[in-house]
Amino acid sequence: MIRHIAPLRKHSLESSIRVQLRMVHHKVTIIGSGPAAHTAAIYLSRAEMKPTLYEGMMANGIAAGGQLTTTTEIENFPGFPEALSGSELMERMRQQSVKFGTNIITETISKIDLSSKPFKLWTEFNEDKVPVTTDAIILATGASAKRMHLPGEEIYWQKGISACAVCDGAVPIFRNKPLAVIGGGDSACEEAEFLTKYGSKIYILVRKNHFRASVIMQRRIEKNANIIVLFNTVALEAKGDGKLLDMLRIKNTKTDVENDLEVNGLFYAIGHTPATDIVKGQVDEQETGYIKTVSGSSLTSVPGFFAAGDVQDSRYRQAVTSAGSGCIAALDAERYLSAQE
Ligand code: FAD
Repeated sequence: MIRHIAPLRKHSLESSIRVQLRMVHHKVTIIGSGPAAHTAAIYLSRAEMKPTLYEGMMANGIAAGGQLTTTTEIENFPGFPEALSGSELMERMRQQSVKFGTNIITETISKIDLSSKPFKLWTEFNEDKVPVTTDAIILATGASAKRMHLPGEEIYWQKGISACAVCDGAVPIFRNKPLAVIGGGDSACEEAEFLTKYGSKIYILVRKNHFRASVIMQRRIEKNANIIVLFNTVALEAKGDGKLLDMLRIKNTKTDVENDLEVNGLFYAIGHTPATDIVKGQVDEQETGYIKTVSGSSLTSVPGFFAAGDVQDSRYRQAVTSAGSGCIAALDAERYLSAQE
């Protein structure tokens, strides 16, 4: 992380001075720095479209490189049988974007105007100045998993606590161990069911006295002997030996009785927040706040404005699916720009 910060400040200052002095126009702008953004950048730069990528500076609370920089081993990204750290994978993607000529600017986009062409963009450093203009935008700003920030969570984050069962469930520390999932919706049920492959038993902690999940999902959970549902239950504290999680302090919300629950894993399934604030009200969104795209494409309700990765995907939310949708967005943007010429 630190490795990024020093050169970034200088770069940001330089680019903000440049913006104050003259109008800047980008043919195609990518906003974000996760697998979707960098895959789009690799495709567009190889196609000689000279993309500019705003990678953000702790945008949405996440370092440049995206969500993968918050995790350790990545074992499910094809091509890396030995696994590698999330930060290393993202550093490699960034190098590949740069290698083919992507112009990377380490600033956060704070405002966008999609009402007329060319689109207008402002960064945190030039909000009151002349905007940057661009013919096309790929929004790849990702999402962030909601967390409870329990006492002890910072100690055991990624040392027993995770927000992604599909990503982390197979990690050895969870094998044949009791695990807990927090949440009452379909995601919580799906994650619990998925975790039965690895854990000895799975507790689902539901704050209310009923699930929000679909009836079908509830039936599947009821039939699974390895899943125990604790209704009216909240977690109060994450505990362990200082290295790994091994206990949750829980409370029954009806009786106020507190207990220790022995678990070696805690998985949050309480939702994600897509990073869409900068385009709120300007482009169609799904009910859940994710950007609405035409199925199988990156096309949004605004021609020339494309969306890729987790910001438009509430279902799969994986590095490889984000990379795939970044590729789709690059090809869609290239086709759009060619048709404008
Ligand atoms: P993100 O990775 O979310 O990146 C978006 C980036 O855009 C961020 O850096 C953000 O700062 C930046 N940004 C946001 N707003 C702006 C703005 N206004 N201006 C400029 N920049 C902005 N997936 C796997 O496949 N395997 C795993 O093992 C795995 N483990 C995970 C572990 C954890 C703890 C988490 C949270 C996720 C994990 N995932 C894993 C999921 C994976 O990280 C995401 O699916 C993937 O990173 C989404 O990529 P993305 O390109 O859509 O955006």
